[in-house]
Amino acid sequence: MKYFKNIIEFTNFFNSDEVCRKFLEDGRWPNGVVCPFCQSTNVCRFSDNKRFKCREKTCRKIFSVTVGSIYENSKVPLQKWFLAMYLIGNHKKGISSHQLARDLGITQKSAWFVLHRIREMYVDKSEEKSSNMVQIDETYVGGKMKNKHKSIRGKAHAENRSHIDNKTPVVALLEQDSKVKVQVWDSSKQTLKDMVRAHVDKNTVVVTDSFIAYRGLDKEYLQHEVVNHNLDEYVNAS
Ligand SMILES: [Zn+2]
Repeated sequence: MKYFKNIIEFTNFFNSDEVCRKFLEDGRWPNGVVCPFCQSTNVCRFSDNKRFKCREKTCRKIFSVTVGSIYENSKVPLQKWFLAMYLIGNHKKGISSHQLARDLGITQKSAWFVLHRIREMYVDKSEEKSSNMVQIDETYVGGKMKNKHKSIRGKAHAENRSHIDNKTPVVALLEQDSKVKVQVWDSSKQTLKDMVRAHVDKNTVVVTDSFIAYRGLDKEYLQHEVVNHNLDEYVNAS
């Protein structure tokens, strides 16, 4: 998979709730389904193809891939959530809940909810002074993770991203003026670099975390600064 050049490509790819669900499952459980309550892999899938049941005697919980995510307990179909992320990420000047409601064919109340849940993920964290600076954050859109953000990311890095317990991999590009671009991402290192190249001007200071996939950007960009999320500090990439 790749990043999406336009809305046609995006909707052609994520053309059903099943595809979106599969995408989430593959991202969350690359090595097979894991019970989010007890971490057991002894689980079985219901015939509805959505829910799972944990077979551990002490657990026996029923769950789906959306447990703990921003999509949990939402009546809005996954396909619309995905499209909402795309639209929000690509409307540079922002999108109103009224517009989003019309675009997705949902109520304004639902659209407001969707908008706010997604926006929460991209609260502008950068207060850089340089005029040409873009902060690039690969992250996983998942539930209630404002507080967990750092530790999850740290963990994800440490474990080479194989056991990330939250959902959609996305890349957020935060520009100086607080504009945010969001792209759904396939978790591959090559794609990540290609996305940076496609969206960020060469005459830019790029700020990333220490994820290995960013290595070499200092040769292509004005400057590459690396933020160590665990220490919350900036170090020089070179
Ligand atoms: Zn369990």
